[in-house]
This record gives sequence, structure tokens and C-alpha cells, in this order.
Amino acid sequence: MYESFEDRLKFRKKILIVDDELINREMLANIIGNDYEALTAEDGNQALDVMIRYHDTLSLVLLDLLMPVMDGYELLSVMKNDANLSRIPVIVLTSEVSAEVKSLNMGAADFIPKPFDAPEVILARIRKTIQLHENINILSATQYDELTSLFNREFFMEYAVVIDQYYPDVKMDAVVLDINRFHAINEMNGRAYGDEILRRVGSAIKEYVRANSGIGCRYNADSFYIYIPHSDTPDILDFITERVQEKMDDAQNRLRIGIYPDVDRNIEIARRFDRALLACTSIRGNFSENTAYYNEKMHEDEAFAERLMSDMEKGLSDNQFIVYYQPKFAIQDGDPYLTSAEALIRWKHPELGMVSPGRFIPVFEKNGMIRKLDRFVWKEAASQVRKWEDKFGITIPVSVNVSRIDMMDRGFVGLITDIVNSAGIGPDGYMIEVTESAYTDDSDKLIEVVNRLRALGFRIEMDDFGTGYSSLNMLSALPVDVLKLDMRFIRNIHTNPKDLRMVQLVMEIAEYLNMTVVAEGVEYKEQYELLKEAGVQVIQGYYFSKPVPPEEFEVFIKERIEHDNNTSS
Ligand code: C2E
Ligand code: CA
Ligand code: CA
Repeated sequence: MYESFEDRLKFRKKILIVDDELINREMLANIIGNDYEALTAEDGNQALDVMIRYHDTLSLVLLDLLMPVMDGYELLSVMKNDANLSRIPVIVLTSEVSAEVKSLNMGAADFIPKPFDAPEVILARIRKTIQLHENINILSATQYDELTSLFNREFFMEYAVVIDQYYPDVKMDAVVLDINRFHAINEMNGRAYGDEILRRVGSAIKEYVRANSGIGCRYNADSFYIYIPHSDTPDILDFITERVQEKMDDAQNRLRIGIYPDVDRNIEIARRFDRALLACTSIRGNFSENTAYYNEKMHEDEAFAERLMSDMEKGLSDNQFIVYYQPKFAIQDGDPYLTSAEALIRWKHPELGMVSPGRFIPVFEKNGMIRKLDRFVWKEAASQVRKWEDKFGITIPVSVNVSRIDMMDRGFVGLITDIVNSAGIGPDGYMIEVTESAYTDDSDKLIEVVNRLRALGFRIEMDDFGTGYSSLNMLSALPVDVLKLDMRFIRNIHTNPKDLRMVQLVMEIAEYLNMTVVAEGVEYKEQYELLKEAGVQVIQGYYFSKPVPPEEFEVFIKERIEHDNNTSS
């Protein structure tokens, strides 16, 4: 009979037994003798000699804590500080329960209580420890982040799983650390400086997690993940800030952490960090707070988002989604009259009631489900335009909202063309709203798509204008027909002269660039009058009407027809 490869490996594995009592050494040697090669030592000094000699082939040390000459604690700390020896896992042998935590903190992998358990139990613990450690050692060779020499993210995630297995009963915290506006640091001070900051943060984290039995990694360019035993009063942010401060004097305002405390071990590691990240993101751009905890509210939001995701498909097939239309009125040309409409989706959920798009759109944008929903709205809107054409003999153009990820889809232009063609309407009956922030993300690709649409005769509206960061010279390069002034822009124009001045500036620019301006979210007469005076051509808002279902919208079409008859006669 040949030995299997596994058996031969096992045969070679050496375990060092360190105990001052002969009876213990013999018992253990006896228990492991069939599976491993047992080496023995009577105290720390002897053990050290053996370890140094066999450091690259030693699989495990079984270590008694109380010994003369050099005791187990001392040996542990010597091992911890030696690059070669710290690699060898140690299982501590002890009769004191209180020693357990202390030795685990000092780097022991596990412990075996005295008097000894059944041999199978001891063997199982030994086998598990050796196996886990081999995994770590195989991986760790290449698993570092070059810049910071912290773990990289893949290894970190695997290691976190191992920690869970080792310490199933230790409460753990998931922590995400982020640097506010890191790209600005890079831009203003150069990459080398940015790298230096990252290195410092990295080494501070390393120092911290070493002292606190945790692990850390650089997860993204400027974000770090830390998995660490729970603390009620975490001092990690202070610790890191202090060490980064001498290089970056505003570190206080730059560093921000999100903590998911005492993690639920039943959910995946990655999701635990999603939660910490959610907390961290909740205080982005908020300079008065730099620590946030994952809390009940976030938990509810998360659960709600999950509910929405799982209900969407059925919602679509059960016709729970309805398209509403909000009228846009031209106001510069005598009495206001209806020019067009915006299609806005509504979800009549059978149990949750009316769910606002402000809640579900961001959720579906994040996971891509928005594509399906948008296609539904686009089709509905196109066929509605056609229905009204058939019924009233007039084209009321409808604009549809297009999410950033829709625009990046290869077949997007073809799809829109198909939809319009099969509804039997022309491109003049259909407009496309793209939010301003989309332009700042990947503008080249976006501009190309928009140009193709315009070449086909579609008009493009830049939605939420004033909330993104498009610079003036960028604006002149953008192929856009209409600027839709964001609601926030005009909310206070009747009380704040500065805001009104901004609108007037936009009007000058739009005129120069030959763009139409639509003001949205207009609620009050004063706003309406000021906007009219400023030259805004089109108004959309509660001042005229909320978004309404198509049947109700027909009132506006009838008024428009009446208006046309009056002005032509
Ligand atoms: P948006 O595109 O900026 O749409 C304008 C929002 O302002 C709509 O909210 C509209 O109901 C609301 N609004 C209009 N006039 C007033 C007013 O005078 N006062 C106030 N307070 N609000 C006004 P809604 O319908 O809740 O939609 C919210 C957002 O959800 C939309 O913002 C849009 O970004 C998104 N959305 C809605 N439908 C769709 C869709 O079919 N596809 C996509 N991708 N996004 C959609
Ligand atoms: Ca819109
Ligand atoms: Ca808008």
C-alpha cells in the first residue's frame, strides 16, 4: 500500500510539546504520536532552541503556561516579536480559565484545558489549528497592499473568516475608515503627498490592530477596513488622527469612520462591512461629525430596500407601477399654456401603499434594476403620447428620465428609437432628461450618446441643473437643448436676492448658448412672477399641477386646445 500524499505530509508535520511535567509531555506525545512527529521541551529556553532549529518545518507548538526558567507568556511574547517564530501557531495548555483570554491576546491560536479532554477532542483542535494556519501562510506570501503594506482586500476578507472560526465567541466590530475628499488632496499637493498620507494611515492602522488583536486592510484607494474585537469606547480614530496629524494638519476633519459594532456573526463578512460603510457614508461631507454607528434607522432602511428589491418584479407584472404626468407650461407668450409633460413613475404597493420614487429609484439605480423599470416607463410614455395624438390630434411631447446606467448601455440609442417607432410617434414627441451629475462622471461617453440622439431629432434636457458641478466652459461643450433648473435653486428666490441673482445669471448663459430654461418645483405665485420676469421660458411645479394620472392630465390638453383656438381666431 502506498501512503497518500496527504499521509506523507502528515507524517512530516512536527509538533513541539512544551511542558515541565513529564507526565503531561508523555500523555500528549501519546495522543498525537500516530498522526504527527512529537518534539518535546521542558521549559521556554529549551523550547526556543528547538523552535529556532526547526522553525520552517514546525507546524504547531503545544505550550504550558506555568513553567520554571522561561514561562509560556514570556515565550509567547518572544515568538510574537520574531518574524520566523510568529508564523508558528501556538495552542496553550492551561488549567486556569482566566489565562485563556490573556494568551489569546498574546497571539495564541487556541487553548486546551487541563486536565486533558478526550484524545479525539485534542486531536481535532490541533488539526483545525494547523489547517487554518497553513491556509493563512500560503495566502499571506503575496497578499499585501504595496503602498501601505496592510493586507489587501481579498486576503483581509478571508482572514476575517478565519478569525470568526478561531474566536466564535469574541464580540467583533467592523470599522470602515475613509478620507474626506482625498482626490482634492492629490490634486492640490500631488500624488506623492497623497501616497504618503495613505502610508501613514496604513501604518497607524497596523500599529493599532496589532495592539488590539484585529486586522486591517486598504480596501479602496482611500478607504480602509478594520476588523477588531469590540470596544464600547473606540479610540481608533483618535489614535490614527494623532499619527497622521504631523503630515496633514487638518487630519481632524479629514478622517471619518463608520462602525458596525458587535457584528451579527450570521451575516456574511462583506455585508457586515457594507453596514459599517453605510454608517461611514452617512456622515460624508459633514464636517462636524467624524464617527457614525450603523443604527436602527439604517437597519430599517436596509430592510426596506431589500423588501423593495424583492417586490419589484411582481410589482411590474401586477401593474402596480403607474406613470403619472406633470404638465410643463410656457409662460413668456401671453397666457401660460401647456407645452409638454414629464413622465414620473408611481408605485402603488399593495401593502406599503404609495411608495415615493425618491425611495425606490436610488435603490434600483444601485443594483441595476432601474433598467427594467425605466424601459417600462419609456414604453408607457411613448404609447401615451400616441394615444393623446389619436384622441386630440395634437402632440404633447413627454420627457422621460434616464438614469446614468441606462445611458451607458450599448443598445440604449437603438432601444429608444425602437420604442418611439413602435409607438408610432416621432422624435419631436419625446424628450430625454439626463441628470446633471451624470455629465460629470463619464462625460465623453455620455456626450457621444447624447449627440447620436440629437442627430436622430430627440431633444435633451439637463435635469437638476445647479446641483452638479458642471463648469461654465464645460456647459458650452455639452449637447443639451434645455436646462432644467433644480428645485433647490429656486426655492428661496422670493426671499433671497442672491438666489434670484443666480437664476438671472443662468438665464444669461442659457441665452448665450441658445438653450431653453425650465424651472421646476415652482410652488408660489411670487416664484412664478420672478421667474417670468427673469425670462424663464417654461415652468413645471405644483403652482400649476402635481404629477397626475393620464386621465386627469387630459384636462390640460383640452385647455391647451382651447387656448390654441382662441389665439388663432
Ligand atoms: P426629478 O426628475 O427631478 O422629478 C421632479 C420631482 O419633483 C418629481 O418628484 C416631482 O413630483 C417633484 N415636483 C414637481 N413639482 C414640484 C413642486 O412644485 N414642489 C415639490 N416639492 N416637488 C415637485 P417624484 O415624482 O417624487 O420623483 C422624484 C425623482 O425620482 C425624480 O426627480 C427622478 O429623478 C426620479 N424618477 C421619477 N420617475 C422616474 C423614472 O421613471 N425613471 C427614473 N430613472 N427616475 C425617475
Ligand atoms: Ca426629471
Ligand atoms: Ca429634476
